Amino acid sequence: MAGVCDICGKSTGRRVFRCTDGKVCRDCYEIVSNHFTSTITKSTLAELKERYAENAAPLDLGENGFHISYKIGTFLLLDEQNQKFCILSNRAVTGVYARPEIFSYDALEEYEFLCEPEVTMEEFLTLTAKRRSKTVIKNLRIRLKTRDSKDRDLVLLPGAAKASGPACRQAGKYAKEIVQWAKRLQDRYEGK
Ligand SMILES: [Zn+2]
Repeated sequence: MAGVCDICGKSTGRRVFRCTDGKVCRDCYEIVSNHFTSTITKSTLAELKERYAENAAPLDLGENGFHISYKIGTFLLLDEQNQKFCILSNRAVTGVYARPEIFSYDALEEYEFLCEPEVTMEEFLTLTAKRRSKTVIKNLRIRLKTRDSKDRDLVLLPGAAKASGPACRQAGKYAKEIVQWAKRLQDRYEGK
């Protein structure tokens, strides 16, 4: 069964991982499966090579590296000492793996609390506190706008959920933390 890995060219040894049109060694599989969190049986070799190129490079931690001083759920890591933040993949909620990204605090330009139905965060928190609220929240995310002018959405709810239910209460707790943090940064950089 041993053969040659179609990505790196090394011998696959006994552990061969197959995609639709090729085979991959364990080392490469680890990279293209995002640390064994996805399967590749339905992927093509071309897709895997692309993913490999994206994932193989180490994360750019920037000057002085990254030291986690605070964590907000599976959404954000903060490095207060070096004034950096890391947006996590949050695969648990979105079901999609994305590479973590690291930014310096001053890269954050704006944030938006986005909820469907459209309510403010305060209104949302009030809804989650009401025991018998019948409101269903379809979508909840916090959009971070960074200096590279790409929007990054922190998805706080995996799907529609009752505002008074545990998923929304949990999402509300994190939303509050994220907004407080983002507001603090904004105030700081606007010199308030
Ligand atoms: Zn390989």
